[in-house]
Amino acid sequence: MKVYISVDMEGISGLVRWPDVSPRGIDFERNRRLMTLDTNAAIAGAFAGGATEVVVEENHGVEDLCVLLMDEIDPRCRVIRGAGRGGSTTMAGLKTDCGVVLLIGHHARAGSRPGIMAHTISYEGFRLVSLHGLPIGEPDFFAIRAGELGVPIGMVSGDQVVAEQVAAINPDAECVIVKEALSNQAADCIPPARARDLISAGAKRTVRRAHSGAFKPYSAVPAPYVFDVELKSAMNDAMRKNLEVQKDFEIVNDGHVRVIAANMDLGFRRVAYLGYANRPGVLKY
Ligand SMILES: [Zn+2]
Repeated sequence: MKVYISVDMEGISGLVRWPDVSPRGIDFERNRRLMTLDTNAAIAGAFAGGATEVVVEENHGVEDLCVLLMDEIDPRCRVIRGAGRGGSTTMAGLKTDCGVVLLIGHHARAGSRPGIMAHTISYEGFRLVSLHGLPIGEPDFFAIRAGELGVPIGMVSGDQVVAEQVAAINPDAECVIVKEALSNQAADCIPPARARDLISAGAKRTVRRAHSGAFKPYSAVPAPYVFDVELKSAMNDAMRKNLEVQKDFEIVNDGHVRVIAANMDLGFRRVAYLGYANRPGVLKY
């Protein structure tokens, strides 16, 4: 079975604050290592559970950053990273031949309190992202896109809030809670060395269970998808001009854009685009 692992940074064991996941933070280089080691734990667990192939895709700050330490990542996997991957920037490796999706180091959706570094796609840009009127987070995008391809979500690691949000989509998913969020930037953490054992054991169970058909692809949300993106601040002139010439975006008001998409590949790309559409003349997504 080919296993697809999406790795984000906010839900990595031991990390709690924005400076922990930003290149300007004092421990960023060490934290890149923690992210790599949580990922390695998931890869090792996946292979121990019967994976024949593991594809890892980076999901943190993808427009600007590559974070995993390539000289320390488990040599058995492949890693998709960098900007402009074709299709959705964070789901280029998610294909119909994947057997199960593991979300490692993921985080709660925008508006969650508590929830470590809770946001949906753009922390600076978006106050809330809704789909058909209900708030959604990044795991929802992954679950729906994977469902379109016939692939189930099997596991998440992160705080208790993202675990609850993934369990709401798939009650059968393995939830590995590596920290208990106390607010948006404080948590009661399991030390990473121990958290990695839990991640590895969770990934092993997930792949074993996926082999026996324990998980069903998620298909509860009907397309076309109607997204409402509430911005943190009123859009600038550049963004207004960019959106006015594209029929797939409806400006509801200065702080609210509606997006409609026939599938979740386009849906993700269009919503993500709103995170950088404030740059003059940027029309490509
Ligand atoms: Zn991230």
